[in-house]
Amino acid sequence: MKNYNEKRNFKKTGEPEDIPSKKKNKEPIFVIQKHDATNLHYDFRLEIDNTLKSWSVPKGPSTDPSVKRMAIPTEDHPIAYADFEGVIPQGEYGGGTVMIWDKGKIESNKKDEDGKIISLEDSFKAGSIEVILHGKKLQGGFNLVEMKGGNMKGNWLLMKQDDAEADARRNPVSTQNKSVVSGRTLKQIEKEEKNKE
Ligand code: MN
Repeated sequence: MKNYNEKRNFKKTGEPEDIPSKKKNKEPIFVIQKHDATNLHYDFRLEIDNTLKSWSVPKGPSTDPSVKRMAIPTEDHPIAYADFEGVIPQGEYGGGTVMIWDKGKIESNKKDEDGKIISLEDSFKAGSIEVILHGKKLQGGFNLVEMKGGNMKGNWLLMKQDDAEADARRNPVSTQNKSVVSGRTLKQIEKEEKNKE
């Protein structure tokens, strides 16, 4: 798979270039970007190992713990990508509008047999992540589990943990459709970016 920089032309897209740096956030973050590309999807990204590990979630996250959402791994994104909201030009990789749908700090809540927290790094390597999201729309635990066999091998499943923040009646993907940083809808982002040109 081509890496992040190889896929993009930074003369044409406003996305940040991936410049190697040792700088990372004091506390790791997550971002979910609603991306109106060829197919509308939600990019779920977790800061792990000084990068944003990324999955494309076609239906977006659910707060109903009985719902499993397909999460297809995509290339690592630079941490600066968590601040990107705007329009990727048509014809470029991922051409379409990107909204910061939710964002916040994260912490692992996966424990070993002795009750000790397992790091997000080790959880990612093992293909089984349990993470608490401190977002504006999403809170509480989520599990992200790699499928190790069958015809879906290599894909992951995203599901809400059955905790105090679980709520089968909520449907944030359809009811909360504005950016958590700018308050804009996808249409407003697209329109304002066009006016800038
Ligand atoms: Mn995307």
